[in-house]
Amino acid sequence: MTFDDFYLAHDLLDGLDTMGFTKPTPIQEQAIPVILDNKDIIACAQTGTGKTAAYVLPLIHKIINSDKRHINTLVLAPTRELALQIDQQIEGLAYFTGVSSIAVYGGGDGAVWDQQKKALKQGVDIIIATPGRLISFLTSGAMKMDHLEHLVLDEADRMLDMGFYDDIIRIISYLPAKRQTLLFSATMPPKIRTLANTILKNPVQVNIAISKPAEGILQQAYLVYDKQKLGLIKKILKDAKYTSILIFASTKEHVKELDKELRRLGFAVHAFHSDLVQDEREEIMRAFKSRRIPILIGTDVLSRGIDVEGIDLVVNYDVPPDPEDYIHRIGRTARAESTGTAITFINDKDQHKFSRIEHLVAKEITKLPLPEEFGDAPHYNPGLRKEGAKKSSWKGKKRKFL
Ligand code: AMP
Repeated sequence: MTFDDFYLAHDLLDGLDTMGFTKPTPIQEQAIPVILDNKDIIACAQTGTGKTAAYVLPLIHKIINSDKRHINTLVLAPTRELALQIDQQIEGLAYFTGVSSIAVYGGGDGAVWDQQKKALKQGVDIIIATPGRLISFLTSGAMKMDHLEHLVLDEADRMLDMGFYDDIIRIISYLPAKRQTLLFSATMPPKIRTLANTILKNPVQVNIAISKPAEGILQQAYLVYDKQKLGLIKKILKDAKYTSILIFASTKEHVKELDKELRRLGFAVHAFHSDLVQDEREEIMRAFKSRRIPILIGTDVLSRGIDVEGIDLVVNYDVPPDPEDYIHRIGRTARAESTGTAITFINDKDQHKFSRIEHLVAKEITKLPLPEEFGDAPHYNPGLRKEGAKKSSWKGKKRKFL
């Protein structure tokens, strides 16, 4: 599936291109058509899955063709940080569309309040707000929402944990009853179900089930340049006390190359990829299970389904393309309550991809210092740079209100 399959406005496709999003994530595949179809949604999806763009893209598409004299969409988010992140993503995706947004959040001094108020007066299509500050605006009369068409609750579980239930209900009393409501939540405790029953109408359920990595996995990473990877894996394999090792590379070609290099260096490795016939695959897997082969190198073909006990090390020679693949890959170790180590090599180009993984597993993964003999390593600065993004930057071209 590609983004073309959703028939989104051309200006929006240009935004996607600039952001470097080439392929929809699973939540985007599932949610975008439902939202375009004007249905309410209850989606179970964590940060890192691409959930923001899953609602932002179809909503911008709809706003492009709407009457732009009123506030069209309200996104409620638990924190100022999340509100700003969402606003930033809207700014990027909507850059060529003329659709505007503003983040409205508490804190700051009177000047911030005044700025927000002024921006609202000028008119805006999408408001991303934390509940407390929004209530102040609504009650002060500085904001009217009687023509609103879409309400999004992002990280709804966190908003409830922070005690915003009553505020949310109060905010909704200012909104038209006829609207589309989208609820996104990382978890679905009963109180979310209750909220959903109160504010959604016949919602379509979307679940992106992602199991968290097992507690027993020690997750580590090295920041490297590509040319340092081979030396580093050699060192890890030599020094380590591991007996059963899986190495993942992103393409068949990388797997074959690495297999050749490691064999040349005297390691007992085997490659596993889609060019092998079924019998060969089964034989290799049997040999790996019985420890006759200690090191297996493969593509993501290997990451799903194989259930081998006692793998003690997984190495991601390349950062996996999808964050979900990372979870599948490292899930090959530490099975059945045992422990294991997962080490990822992050080259300078894959840092943004890796930050998505950190979002998804909801923690910062330890970056080990590169041993001195390898020279300087890249700095970790994943920023907002997207893999494959075009050079043209929208940042700075458009002045935001704030
Ligand atoms: P989210 O789950 O919305 O917090 O998104 C996590 C990260 O994934 C953000 O940095 C987005 O910029 C990025 N992202 C979202 N959708 C895509 C996509 N289709 N392709 C690549 N990156 C994406």
